[in-house]
Amino acid sequence: MSNQLTSISPTRLRAYETCPLQYQMRYIQKVPRVDSPSSVVGQAVHSALEMNFIQKRHGGHDLELKEVMRIYEDVWDARLPVGASESSLADEFSGAYSSGQEILQLYFQDVAPMIKPHLVEHRFGFDIPGVPVRVVGTVDLIDQDGVVIDHKTSFAQYSESYPETDLQLRCYAIGYAMFRAGSRVAPGQLPAPFFIPDVRVDVLVRSNPPVIQQLPACYDRADLDDFTDRAVSIIAGIEGESYEPFWRLSGREADSNVCRRCPYGDRCPESLQGDSSLEQSSKGRNDEKQN
Ligand code: SF4
Repeated sequence: MSNQLTSISPTRLRAYETCPLQYQMRYIQKVPRVDSPSSVVGQAVHSALEMNFIQKRHGGHDLELKEVMRIYEDVWDARLPVGASESSLADEFSGAYSSGQEILQLYFQDVAPMIKPHLVEHRFGFDIPGVPVRVVGTVDLIDQDGVVIDHKTSFAQYSESYPETDLQLRCYAIGYAMFRAGSRVAPGQLPAPFFIPDVRVDVLVRSNPPVIQQLPACYDRADLDDFTDRAVSIIAGIEGESYEPFWRLSGREADSNVCRRCPYGDRCPESLQGDSSLEQSSKGRNDEKQN
């Protein structure tokens, strides 16, 4: 088979499940993505959080707020697209910059002091049962209670069911469970459910006023079996080079919000967006950490 995989990241698994055509544009055709205000703020916030928790793991305390803000500004400046401040999106970039500062400050005042990091940016790998493909990725943060914490930034609150359905988060939980279980996991198998840690998504919502949304979840045997079924189906789709837009797939709704959040929503010929201008697409796009 020409497109046989040996490993895959959680980000790729989720991208294919979201929309096979999006996966093809991003990973096969390598169509360049233009950073939106939302994606730039997501990267800047993520880097500031990462640096703080790396330092806290070793030094035992959070960075000074001004140091965190300096990291945010440095990453913002480095990631800002050339000409953004003179473009039609100048106001939107400016607003994203300010709202990113506000939500980061709130997180550092209200949430970060309560987190005791155990592992930060922890690499993991595990086999998908039934196929010779390994999932390889990195977990943002695991605290000293063994809870896997993932950070997201968004302009709107997430659905309460997000942690129960998100494939990427389930990969993180399984990845850390492999680390806990070690040699007690047979090759090609997933860890037993009692090794699977609790998870939590901290959503930094750039609303007015800013809000921190915390979404906890835990997984059982049925969730592990569901993960295997979904991952095997995704691998078959990628290896079979099946790259339909999501809304042509059986059982999927033609939800235009999926296209609004897509980095190719402005140029995809199959997009469900009524207005294909960059301005309209970026207004409706949720933030995402870039992996
Ligand atoms: S715009 Fe919509 S159909 Fe096109 S790749 Fe993105 S999610 Fe898929």
